[in-house]
Amino acid sequence: MIVSRKIILHFPKDMVEQPLVSRLAKDFDLEFNILKASVTPNEEGIMHLAIKGEKGNYSKGVEYLTKAGVKVQQMGQEIKRNDDRCTHCGLCVSVCPTPALVIDKKTREVVFDSGHCVACEMCVRVCPVKAMEIRF
Ligand code: SF4
Ligand code: SF4
Repeated sequence: MIVSRKIILHFPKDMVEQPLVSRLAKDFDLEFNILKASVTPNEEGIMHLAIKGEKGNYSKGVEYLTKAGVKVQQMGQEIKRNDDRCTHCGLCVSVCPTPALVIDKKTREVVFDSGHCVACEMCVRVCPVKAMEIRF
């Protein structure tokens, strides 16, 4: 399935000049347009991107950026968890490319932090009880 997304990338000061975005096309076969790019006074780099490609590649591209230290934010669409449905089975944690879904070491429950979510929908696809929902 082909997906189109608009995302915002936040690059830490020491990463502003690294060619990370160009690898989205080269390594993950994603098309992208830079909608806006700027450097803030504290020298954080911010880039707005329109991005398009196969869903699995999009997810891998986001994972690559996140692991490299870039904060990725989704524009427009968000994922919510229906806590009444969630059984904390942990399936979604294994597919999430960001730290949005993690297992709490003390309670062993799955914690959802929407601040890290990039709406790749991978959790929506694997959740057996449909606890992860897409909202527009
Ligand atoms: S896959 Fe669904 S039920 Fe399992 S932990 Fe994730 S949200 Fe909860
Ligand atoms: S949509 Fe689901 S899998 Fe994707 S980043 Fe958000 S919580 Fe993680």
